[in-house]
Amino acid sequence: MIKRRSLGRIRWLLALAVLGAGALSLAGCGGEEGQVREAAETPVETFLTPSPSEIISLAGTPTPTFRPLELAPTPAVLDRQLADTDATRAARQRLVEQRVVPMVSDKAVIAAMLAVPRHAFVPTGYLDMAYDDHPLPIGYGQTISQPSLVAMMTAMLKLEAGDRVLEIGTGSGYQAAILRQLTDQVYTIEIIPELAGTARRIFDELGYGDIHATRADGYYGWWEFAPFDAIIVTAAPDHLPAPLTAQLSPDGGRMVIPIGPPGGYQSLWLVERHGEDISMERVLDVSFVPFTRETE
Ligand code: SAH
Repeated sequence: MIKRRSLGRIRWLLALAVLGAGALSLAGCGGEEGQVREAAETPVETFLTPSPSEIISLAGTPTPTFRPLELAPTPAVLDRQLADTDATRAARQRLVEQRVVPMVSDKAVIAAMLAVPRHAFVPTGYLDMAYDDHPLPIGYGQTISQPSLVAMMTAMLKLEAGDRVLEIGTGSGYQAAILRQLTDQVYTIEIIPELAGTARRIFDELGYGDIHATRADGYYGWWEFAPFDAIIVTAAPDHLPAPLTAQLSPDGGRMVIPIGPPGGYQSLWLVERHGEDISMERVLDVSFVPFTRETE
């Protein structure tokens, strides 16, 4: 049985990036001021269960609760416009120049944002907004993330060609396609079968067929293919899932993950692993859809 909290409620990842003096903050639309302060002032430890010392002792051990993976259904009708035209390319160029270049200096990430046709990942009803710097609904209460936030989180992973990267929360498939521009070892997991199936079909149609995508509860990672040089989580759990830390490469693995209570704001963390040492840096406040769990 799949337990989904807040299904049917769209949580906007609308974010306002403020760059300056090294400080970053991203505010989700619909959030209250008070929630921002609450997220920022909550002690780090609140979000960390198990505690950092428990995580370290778990790191390096295989995930005990690995589940078999199911195939996702492929949609009969794909509600997407896949063709890239002069108009979509121009719109994309504008978006990247105005919203990505000011925030991200990594040239490979900028090139990836210019290359991937975001409009092909959004339902056709939202085509005219595909190159606005906003999240958009993709059905099942989920959203495709805001482009500038996708670029920023991707840059934080510091990917090099050949790195093995795991994404939790395939959603539309857009973030995975961006990752695929940077490395040919992309693994992505989505819990909602219909979204996993649609993303699979788009990957195949757009030439991203070698992205490894599956439907499962990403809490457990993808143990068969671990360790990962990088892990990116695009839904917000209320703690750092120990299996993901365990599957992060001990040789400088990087994980970008929003952690915090569902609804309102969470903190985006950069986790790094060196051997059994796990370091965590809080980067900014963000608003993500909840990380859901599969129950027996
Ligand atoms: N990266 C996506 C963003 C999708 S929103 C994109 O580029 O479009 C986050 C996604 O995480 C949703 O599709 C949601 O269903 C999924 N998700 C939530 N909990 C999950 C879990 N435990 N395992 C895998 N996917 C999960």
